[in-house]
Amino acid sequence: RAKDGGGNRYELADPDSDARAIDRHSLTTRLPGALERDEFFLEYQPLIRMSDGRVDGAEALVRWHHPVHGRLGPDRFIPLAEHTGLIVPLGRWVLEQAVRQACTWEKQLAAIGKVRDPAQPLRVNVNLSPRQLHHPDLVSDTVAVLETAGVEPSTLCLEVTESALIGADEDELKPLRQLAEMGVEIALDDFGTGYSNLANLRRLPATTLKLDRSFTQGLQKHPADPVDVTFVGGIVSLAHALGLRVTVEGVETEAQAHQLRELGCDTAQGWYYARPAPPEEIGCWTK
Ligand code: C2E
Ligand code: MG
Ligand code: MG
Ligand code: MG
Repeated sequence: RAKDGGGNRYELADPDSDARAIDRHSLTTRLPGALERDEFFLEYQPLIRMSDGRVDGAEALVRWHHPVHGRLGPDRFIPLAEHTGLIVPLGRWVLEQAVRQACTWEKQLAAIGKVRDPAQPLRVNVNLSPRQLHHPDLVSDTVAVLETAGVEPSTLCLEVTESALIGADEDELKPLRQLAEMGVEIALDDFGTGYSNLANLRRLPATTLKLDRSFTQGLQKHPADPVDVTFVGGIVSLAHALGLRVTVEGVETEAQAHQLRELGCDTAQGWYYARPAPPEEIGCWTK
């Protein structure tokens, strides 16, 4: 267990036992200034169109370069940021960076003569936490970011978890609906975890369903678990019937990729294709 030796000194009796608890303290103290100190950075993970293997876009994933603990993944600090409210300025920063990056990619493609079909812009996906979702400035901030960068609204896909929308009434859904009407894509992230409410799907302003990694894992076996196959196939049919596209998360093997394509998934994301990487390393855009 971590012992607070006073000041900023910590001791680890057992490195595995409660590293998270130590971090919690040191993260809590460091987090508020981290944005000003420019300690956050983004990595991007490509989304692959399954029909032809082309890159459809990329998801922006935030990381924190902590001065003591080094590189930290979002699971370590997003909940804290959400709790303290820092997620609002942090989220705005992520949105700005990601949209600006999309603009840069567009220009780089144009420079080599590869102009994309305007109906299918290179998309950048940005995760929204519940607190951002309910922030009164969501729509105006998003519009401002898109206008400043000069990109089409359809360049942006906002990812929200299903659970963040559970129980949301029509008023609470209004900002997302407004954004969707402008052409911003809305994806339901981690779909299938938590309390999925299929009836609820119809009234959400979503354009894409992101099937959680846990479903993909069930398709890893040879042959794949028939129950999982039926399940994923059913969700894909339902989503398509509702006019939603389906993205699958966590594709790690060729067998999974093959299976998910057979099942009609539209786009895929996972280590099989590419790990999250700095924007300069996403060199496969031009394929
Ligand atoms: P998510 O939105 O579901 O993002 C997908 C996560 O799966 C990422 O973890 C990604 O690195 C990981 N992943 C991708 N492909 C594979 C694979 O093939 N196998 C496995 N095992 N994992 C894979 P990451 O980057 O640690 O992000 C975790 C979560 O943190 C994200 O889950 C998202 O909910 C949240 N997050 C990340 N960036 C932001 C952000 O800017 N704002 C907010 N509010 N949340 C964020
Ligand atoms: Mg996501
Ligand atoms: Mg997800
Ligand atoms: Mg997930």
